[in-house]
Amino acid sequence: MDIRFVCHDCGKKHHPHTLLWRCPCGGLLDVEEYAISFPLDEMKKRPATMWRYREALPFSADSAMWEQITLGEGYTPIVPLDSRSSNILAKIEYMMPTLSFKDRGAAVLVAKAKELGVTRLIADSSGNAGTSISAYASRAGIACDIYVPESTSPKKIQQIAAHGATVHPIPGNREASAHAAIDDVERSRGFYASHVYNPFFYEGTKTFAFELYEQLNGTVPDVLVLPAGNGSLLLGAYYGFRQLLRCGMIEQLPRMIAVQAEGCAPLARAFRAGKRAAEPVANTGTAAEGIAVAAPARHRQILDAIQATGGLVITAPEQKIEAARRELAARGFYVEPTTAATYAGFLEYLARGHNAGDELLDLCRHGSVLIPLCGAGIKAN
Ligand SMILES: *Cc1c(COP(=O)(O)O)cnc(C)c1O
Ligand SMILES: [Zn+2]
Repeated sequence: MDIRFVCHDCGKKHHPHTLLWRCPCGGLLDVEEYAISFPLDEMKKRPATMWRYREALPFSADSAMWEQITLGEGYTPIVPLDSRSSNILAKIEYMMPTLSFKDRGAAVLVAKAKELGVTRLIADSSGNAGTSISAYASRAGIACDIYVPESTSPKKIQQIAAHGATVHPIPGNREASAHAAIDDVERSRGFYASHVYNPFFYEGTKTFAFELYEQLNGTVPDVLVLPAGNGSLLLGAYYGFRQLLRCGMIEQLPRMIAVQAEGCAPLARAFRAGKRAAEPVANTGTAAEGIAVAAPARHRQILDAIQATGGLVITAPEQKIEAARRELAARGFYVEPTTAATYAGFLEYLARGHNAGDELLDLCRHGSVLIPLCGAGIKAN
């Protein structure tokens, strides 16, 4: 399939063979629209992985690349969060081969890299994207260099190294690791397997939306509560729902509530100010390492997506993250702090928001709500 990238800023098209990670004009790249279909009856007969939706993914019908690369990712369970609040569902995204939703994006991205004949890939990560990319790269026989902040959980660093990747711990914040990776990409003219910049990653996270639709019998929840750092799940899910909408399979997008950590909340700050672009912030510290992104590259797209669904950006109070983690564990879910932060933010919103006639809040209280539990507790400290 001859998929092209299109620059978000100037509209110029680029072939993935160029290995460009952004447009020469500086703009972000997106996947150009391509023909998709949803032969649902056929899809339902296939194994319960995200690859059952392959007609809606950027692979030609005769491409078997994904079959070499798949670790059985996707089709994660949806269960009620607990027996008391039956309107709140959890999608257990940590039940993935490398224990986070990043496997959706990494599987597609690495399969595309293999199709392009790439032999080495480079990425930066706060942890989970690195573990995911390195796992699929090793399966694909592609060498891999991962740049992580020095402070990344030791268990995630061990996992990355175990898959045979070269780990580069970088002093400083998340952005310092990204700069180090980009330096390497530029110097070596390498393939940047970034979950932030590489548009194929979002083609993978799109399957989150397709699964929801199928697992909820052709419906979608009223509200989705999603973590937002770089927005790789949020944007992917949004693209997926938009495709379902365009294909006439759903009538309305679920409203998206994005959760950021109070100590690092550029999107929340922009949203509150009614802005369509976010200014970088200083990360004042948070246990939610997976969403501690001070300058999210796709900030405009994330804010647009939230706006388009009639959603909201909220923050998780730092001192409530640990309690939220315990509360989830008490229901059987052992999650990492970043995931606890998503829940903590939602609880805070339920408790605090009390404007009469707040439609979104009413939906959260009485409508159907779904929260993905994105990362496994066992990987974190
Ligand atoms: C990556 C990750 C996030 C945040 O994803 P973004 O793409 O940065 O928005 C949230 N939770 C977990 C467990 C993650 O691995
Ligand atoms: Zn451009």
